[in-house]
Amino acid sequence: MSGNTFGGIFWSDGSYFAPMLPDLPVFTRCTGCGEILNIFKARHEEAGSWEEADGLPSVGHLSPEDIREALESGRYQDAEEMIYLRRRLWWSMNDHPYGDETPTATEVTGEYRDNAIALMSLLSGESNGDLITKAELYRNLGDYEMCLEILTKINEPSLNTQKVQIEEASRKKISGTIRFNNS
Ligand SMILES: [Zn+2]
Repeated sequence: MSGNTFGGIFWSDGSYFAPMLPDLPVFTRCTGCGEILNIFKARHEEAGSWEEADGLPSVGHLSPEDIREALESGRYQDAEEMIYLRRRLWWSMNDHPYGDETPTATEVTGEYRDNAIALMSLLSGESNGDLITKAELYRNLGDYEMCLEILTKINEPSLNTQKVQIEEASRKKISGTIRFNNS
């Protein structure tokens, strides 16, 4: 995935809205037969022209209900696909502030907690990307101590801006998703 991040909005759960950085779906529901499938594992080909592409069905992201169905019916083949689905379900349950309003506290329902815990156990690696996601999940669950402890293990300079903002929110005991200030 490549693109220009200029003008984008980035949130602490890893989701973003950036016109120049399209968020391409991995899983979609086939508009023909209704099956939920991984686009990259299905047979696919490039349209030969704009006109040809215009006549094809559009490929959209799964709705939260579709994601639940994909998880419940085991429509994934490996950990990577499960991580994708659980991450998307997490995002769908978070509130994403567009301005500088106070983040809405995450409502930790049974489903929210179960999904967060399952996602954390899938992110068993010690990569900086996994660590920052786990720290954020702990913060969402209201476990600020664990969030802060995991943040101390992150040693990637490019993640410093995000790390500092998640840390600040955790110290203030704010559990909701925050919009990163990328200035
Ligand atoms: Zn189909």
